[in-house]
Amino acid sequence: MDRIFFTVGPTEVFPEVGNLYNEAFENKLFSISHRSKEFERIFQFTVSSLKELLGIPEDFYIFFISSATECMERVIENLVEKESFHFVNGYFAKRFYNISAQLKKNPKSAETAFGTGYDFGNVFVPDSSEIVCITQNETSTGVAIPTDMIYTLKNRYPDKLFVIDAVTSVPYTKFKFDLIDAAFFSVQKGFGMPPGLGVLIVNRKCIAKAQSLADRGFNTGSYNNFLKLALNADKSQTTITPNIPAIYVLGKICDRLCRTGIETIREEIKKRANLAYNFFDKHNSVRPFVKEKTWRSDTTIVLDVDGDTEKIMYKLAYNGLIVSEGYGEFKGRQIRIGNFPVHSAQDYLNLIYNFRKI
Ligand SMILES: *Cc1c(COP(=O)(O)O)cnc(C)c1O
Repeated sequence: MDRIFFTVGPTEVFPEVGNLYNEAFENKLFSISHRSKEFERIFQFTVSSLKELLGIPEDFYIFFISSATECMERVIENLVEKESFHFVNGYFAKRFYNISAQLKKNPKSAETAFGTGYDFGNVFVPDSSEIVCITQNETSTGVAIPTDMIYTLKNRYPDKLFVIDAVTSVPYTKFKFDLIDAAFFSVQKGFGMPPGLGVLIVNRKCIAKAQSLADRGFNTGSYNNFLKLALNADKSQTTITPNIPAIYVLGKICDRLCRTGIETIREEIKKRANLAYNFFDKHNSVRPFVKEKTWRSDTTIVLDVDGDTEKIMYKLAYNGLIVSEGYGEFKGRQIRIGNFPVHSAQDYLNLIYNFRKI
């Protein structure tokens, strides 16, 4: 039976992804050198279409690495001498914090209960923290932080580098890149692609910080440190042999989303999120985990379930609808639903229709 993935990632892929990979295969892109002119053109096209789609200023670097988790490690290694600061209200933010601890960077944090947001006005970032790490959309709990709150905080701490985990935010959430310093994502969530590529977006201040750490003899990592990544990106190349087909397909997907109109896609996602939250707010056994509307994610909808999640997931799967389990401690108690550009209003009506019968 035909299945559709409403999972939070990996999720459904765009229908043209098969053709794009096939096109890459036919055109021998699986075999070309990553030092060739042909690759440089692909690199340039993907960088420019991604910058156009997300409104990234020209002077930002785009680094292609392996995953969002790798982005976390590279960020800590290259931007932190002694101490990072993390907003933690879910498992992915915690992962970022833990990576900093594993790299012996003495992370500090503001923590709040999973499923809730922050009282930003009452959070004080220590002078000693060099970077502020924020998971804008916490995929494990379905909490999203309004971007204006991030900019207000940055305004209070203009000298600290602000790094955003935007994995399940982009391309839905529009960032003002001149008000943040770095952001990263992997392609198997909001970009409707198979997994295998992490994208790290950094401004010149991040490169300067990495340079200053390197100059003073700090360890900034080996093959994928920011200076090597930047030197190669200046030549439209990568440090190592990258996932060339994925870089190619990402460029084509960004270009397509630009031509469809990203604002239209954002409005449609918002409409579907409203439809889902209105429906689940009235459902008698499946309800949104995040109670306060300010903090509700439009791209990852997390639901508390009375009763057996496995049974519900099985029933949905029987009708070809695949959703995600709760994460970590929420496994067996929650269901998570992705709402990305790849999904349609029709898909959502169908999903909701099936929840009616539960
Ligand atoms: C999925 C996810 C990650 C990890 O992505 P990988 O590509 O598996 O490393 C990190 N942060 C958030 C918010 C995520 O949703």
